[in-house]
Amino acid sequence: MSEQFDVVVIGGGPAGYPAAIRAAQNKLKVACVDEWRNADGRHAFGGTCLNAGCIPSKALLESTELLHRAQHEFASHGITTSAVGFDLAAMQKRRATIVKTMTGGILALFKSSGVVPVEGHGRLLAGNQVEVTGFDGSKRLLAAKDVVLASGSVPVRLGAVPHDGRAICDSWNALEFDAVPKRLGIIGAGVIGLELGSVWRRLGSEVTMIEALDQFLPMADQAVSKEALRHFKKAGLDIKLGAKVLRATVANDAVDIVYATAAGEQTLQVDKLVVAVGRRPHTEGLLADDAGVALDERGFIRVDEHCRTAVPHVWAVGDVVRGPMLAHKGKEEGVMVADLIAGRFGEVNYKVIPSVIYTAPEIAWVGQTEEQVKAGGRPYKVGSFPFAASGRARAMEAASGFAKIVAAADDDEILGVHVIGPMAGELIAEAVLAMEYAASTEDLQRTIHAHPTLSEALHEAALAADKRAIDSINR
Ligand code: FAD
Ligand code: NAD
Repeated sequence: MSEQFDVVVIGGGPAGYPAAIRAAQNKLKVACVDEWRNADGRHAFGGTCLNAGCIPSKALLESTELLHRAQHEFASHGITTSAVGFDLAAMQKRRATIVKTMTGGILALFKSSGVVPVEGHGRLLAGNQVEVTGFDGSKRLLAAKDVVLASGSVPVRLGAVPHDGRAICDSWNALEFDAVPKRLGIIGAGVIGLELGSVWRRLGSEVTMIEALDQFLPMADQAVSKEALRHFKKAGLDIKLGAKVLRATVANDAVDIVYATAAGEQTLQVDKLVVAVGRRPHTEGLLADDAGVALDERGFIRVDEHCRTAVPHVWAVGDVVRGPMLAHKGKEEGVMVADLIAGRFGEVNYKVIPSVIYTAPEIAWVGQTEEQVKAGGRPYKVGSFPFAASGRARAMEAASGFAKIVAAADDDEILGVHVIGPMAGELIAEAVLAMEYAASTEDLQRTIHAHPTLSEALHEAALAADKRAIDSINR
């Protein structure tokens, strides 16, 4: 006998759990099936983001940034300290507590909104039925009018770099190290590599990053990438570009890496090696042969712009479908689908999804880079404002980086905003809102920004696009 629901969501990460909550808010009977288990063997909702991604990484980034500031910035404020040290076990305990509180919070949200939590592995069968295999092997059959697939992603592994979870690790392992590796290698200088590299560098690791591409952060505006590379090198990250890993082997508690650059074959020995070369959609065991849901050539579940799969009443959201692998993108897709199922309006504006890299300096952008606008051929103008000219950034001892706006030369529409500097991830929200409402640089120019705040940098960048900046030299 199957249990009947209006909506069954498979996956309780940042795409799945908001879909379940919104569907329940829409007065539908909802179950959310999730199979995540942490190192202690216990189940927790929240998926990669809360258990092994966004939240634990930000907890460690915050702790280690505070340590760095105490060690390197306090003196310039006139604050004297005796030697500042750290207790990694306590830092990790704090990280684990935050994760536990946040994942537990989802259960509380489910309870208050009426979502039925189901622990175990979900598999979509033909006819909108979901078979759930519990951790004890027991089976349950759920039937639903609509099914939402939100099974997320898993790290890409490299054949020549055999993962063992100890010496050769993924990002989850690297968030839970219980000792600081003296020499840390990271394959991939992308978002995960830079965030985790920053954490362990601040705690004392010698960090070497091996990146296959010649170009650093190719998805960011190139003025930002250039500035970022300069800062990361200064912070002690040894970033090797145009370097292809050929193999890695573990012997005597060390990892020997062989990689190739234009100069020929190179070797490197490290104590831990983290593979951070991207993530792939997770669909293993998700779909029965006759479920009818199609995958694309890269293994993502094929969906239209409203996240409908090829099967009526089966939807897919988050990392398992095309688009950036970001928690907030998945969340908006989940909410959209839950509203569409209930016959309400729902849409995701894929052109206005912010990206943030939580390093120091922080990096954030939304919309097109200057290079993309240029390639598109639309005449454009650029306005930049350096944080060196911001009183607030100076007061914060964080006066490096800039805010940059790219706008159309004809109708002044804001096409892209790029920030590298203090609180960039918070500042970008103003740009997101402006672009969501199709604002022009003139709209930003005429908006009053409190003084002295970091947000004035966006105001001044908008003015600079018309060579009317007040607090910096117009070029
Ligand atoms: P997931 O979070 O992967 O959740 C999927 C869930 O479904 C999991 O719990 C999984 O166990 C479960 N599941 C899978 N298959 C089944 C099945 N058949 N049956 C039952 N359950 C199943 N993004 C940001 O936006 N900001 C950040 O700062 C950020 N930092 C990150 C840091 C790291 C180290 C990593 C690895 C990722 C980070 N991300 C960040 C990316 C972010 O974590 C993902 O984009 C996000 O988690 C995707 O959400 P999702 O719900 O689609 O998938
Ligand atoms: P990524 O795509 O950001 O970076 C992977 C890097 O590895 C790229 O620079 C790529 O050129 C390089 N690479 C690929 N194959 C390689 C090889 N064989 N040798 C050397 N280098 C190689 O992926 P990631 O850092 O693994 O992150 C995965 C996903 O998680 C991303 O989509 C990202 O959006 C998301 N994430 C987001 C945040 C955030 O929003 N702050 C933080 C962490 C992760």
